[in-house]
Amino acid sequence: MRTTIVIGAGLSGLMGALALAEAGLRPLLLAKGQGATHWTAGTIDVWGADERSPREALQTIITSRPGHPYALIGVHAVEEAITRFRALTEAARYPYVGGLERNVLLPTAAGALRPAALLPVTMAAGDVRLGGEMLIAGFRELRDFYPPFIAANLAAQGIAARGVYLTMPPAFRRREYTTVTFARMFDDPAFRSEIGRQLRAQRGNATRIGLPAVLGLRDPLEVVAHMQNESGAQVFEIPTLPPSVPGIRLFTLFQQAIERAGGRLQIGSEVIRGEGQDRRLTTIWSEAAARQQEHRVERVLLATGGIAGGGIRTDHAGIVRETALDLPVRAPANRADWFAPRFLDPHGHAIYTAGVATDAHLRPLGAADEVIYDNVAVAGAALGGADTVRERSRSGVSLATGWAAGRILAGLVS
Ligand SMILES: Cc1cc2nc3c(=O)[nH]c(=O)nc-3n(C[C@H](O)[C@H](O)[C@H](O)COP(=O)(O)OP(=O)(O)OC[C@H]3O[C@@H](n4cnc5c(N)ncnc54)[C@H](O)[C@@H]3O)c2cc1C
Repeated sequence: MRTTIVIGAGLSGLMGALALAEAGLRPLLLAKGQGATHWTAGTIDVWGADERSPREALQTIITSRPGHPYALIGVHAVEEAITRFRALTEAARYPYVGGLERNVLLPTAAGALRPAALLPVTMAAGDVRLGGEMLIAGFRELRDFYPPFIAANLAAQGIAARGVYLTMPPAFRRREYTTVTFARMFDDPAFRSEIGRQLRAQRGNATRIGLPAVLGLRDPLEVVAHMQNESGAQVFEIPTLPPSVPGIRLFTLFQQAIERAGGRLQIGSEVIRGEGQDRRLTTIWSEAAARQQEHRVERVLLATGGIAGGGIRTDHAGIVRETALDLPVRAPANRADWFAPRFLDPHGHAIYTAGVATDAHLRPLGAADEVIYDNVAVAGAALGGADTVRERSRSGVSLATGWAAGRILAGLVS
């Protein structure tokens, strides 16, 4: 029986499960469904609220906001998580580049610019600061990716860009197209060659070509190299609307690494309650087909996400609860204080800081700052103390606290 349990399959649960598996603890990861990996851009956003580098921002937070998740674990732990993550992606032939020194500015599918600290190398040539005219190319068959619109918005910000539609090769016509359908087509060299020829013909003066982030599921590096050879320009991916192919690649490489190290993932299992005594969680129950499954536990990593992930739930009466273990949640006492008057308020919305408070070992705390369970660590968006939406730090906080929580539970951090 597996007694090390991770609850949640988002970035924080996956990083935590990897740390626990590599420590030889054979974790079982239980999750109600997929995490945000399948919806997000696939970049790691450590800090993007202002012009500061992520490192500068972290150093300030650590002294000025002691309850912030970055402050609880420290800059060194954030760096450790990034180092492990980069090595993991490198080994899986899907390397990430970047770090804490500066954000890269990447075009979105709306032609806006967004900062990211770490990004798959397949997106790297999209850094708008690199200079050089961009050709933005897409397919009419792929919804919500409109190259002329993206290029016009980039051009309005002073970035030389042109947008074109490519023609779907007859042999590849389908009834339905999703980002995943396209990614599978790009896995096929015949499709790539045909698209590459079209790109060469359309390239003009462009030195780099932005395509929707659908450049293969199996070996995106190979796809990008092939497209560069065929087109004669640098090729980069622009994140699309969900499902996110870069996110699916990430999930897959984590799953493989966790399983190789002795862990197991069970998606489709909602944890509904836990029970313990003397500051130790002893049992949790998950929903299984037609019955509840009991798990005796030694250690548990709670990585169930925030309001968007289902880990924190709110209701019309103003109750804010943590859904798996019913841990206390710190949130504004009055529902009227949840939201600021303006949607894009510079101070953000107070409800987004709601979450479980922890000590520096990420152990959950009660109202009087007492430790509730010694053998539980909390990570990711389930943690309170940060408005990660406003800070643009969501995936950074999840990556770093997930890794830190796994290492703490494995006894590798004193
Ligand atoms: C549409 C969308 C776009 C986003 N875009 C960005 C972006 O561009 N940049 C960025 O940095 N971040 C972005 N994020 C946020 C971000 O990537 C993650 O939400 C964040 O990192 C939180 O990760 P997490 O691991 O804490 O939780 P999540 O990724 O939310 O995962 C929570 C996991 O817990 C499971 N779970 C919840 N409750 C239970 C339960 N009771 N029992 C069992 N399992 C449970 C869920 O099924 C899921 O597997 C986006 C999120 C969304 C939804």
